[in-house]
Amino acid sequence: MSRNLIFFGPPGAGKGTQAKRLMEDHSIPQISTGDILRANRSQGTELGRKAQGFMDNGKLVPDNLIIDMVDDRFGQGDCDNGWILDGFPRTVPQAVALDGLLNRRDAGVDRVVLLKVPDDDIVDRITGRRVCRTCGAPYHVTFKPPAVDGVCDADGGEVYQRADDTEEKVRVRLDEYAHNTAPVAAYFGQRGIVREIDGTGEIDEVYGRLVAVLE
Ligand code: ADP
Ligand code: ADP
Repeated sequence: MSRNLIFFGPPGAGKGTQAKRLMEDHSIPQISTGDILRANRSQGTELGRKAQGFMDNGKLVPDNLIIDMVDDRFGQGDCDNGWILDGFPRTVPQAVALDGLLNRRDAGVDRVVLLKVPDDDIVDRITGRRVCRTCGAPYHVTFKPPAVDGVCDADGGEVYQRADDTEEKVRVRLDEYAHNTAPVAAYFGQRGIVREIDGTGEIDEVYGRLVAVLE
């Protein structure tokens, strides 16, 4: 199975949901730039302070901050046997930087999985999303509620609604996706490693489609 993976798609497509499941089944670490940024904010780091205005407005955080953060993450020693990038790269300069930092580590991207979900579904998913404050596990008020209201099934953390998960902010984020992130698919497309899958339907069904394109 391919193990050096990029999960790609608009906000709310299900990248985090599917990445967490694959991580559990195959022990491949999930690297979510959104989760790392939120952890930096809650710890009050300089990076967290620099990123917060962009995040709260649904805008992308500047490339240099993100690239240094991902480089650090790859240096943590658990990425030698595969990784799932979730929410990165989100711009072509980030994709170019990723190639550079992987080259230095004698690694490369095996597969880019593009989750396709229509915009109307995205808005329903994002406005109903709740996430665990400690592990970032995503839930949904209708489609995937935690067993106990407000409590994460995985680690008992507080399940809350992100400030940027409003209809107004998701429109801005979809716009950022169309302008800055969608071109990244063409960048990797030239290598023949992009696989598009239908991201609609039950979470289990989507997982089945995902595993099929990684074989
Ligand atoms: P992303 O990481 O791409 O932003 P998430 O994995 O956080 O997306 O999913 C966004 C929201 O949609 C969450 O509330 C999640 O529970 C829900 N969700 C994920 N996959 C599905 C699905 N196949 N059907 C319905 N809701 C889903
Ligand atoms: P979603 O999966 O719903 O799009 P994320 O948790 O991935 O949300 O990202 C939340 C916010 O964090 C983004 O709107 C953006 O401000 C910032 N962010 C996360 N990853 C990146 C990235 N690779 N480049 C720039 N900004 C990012």
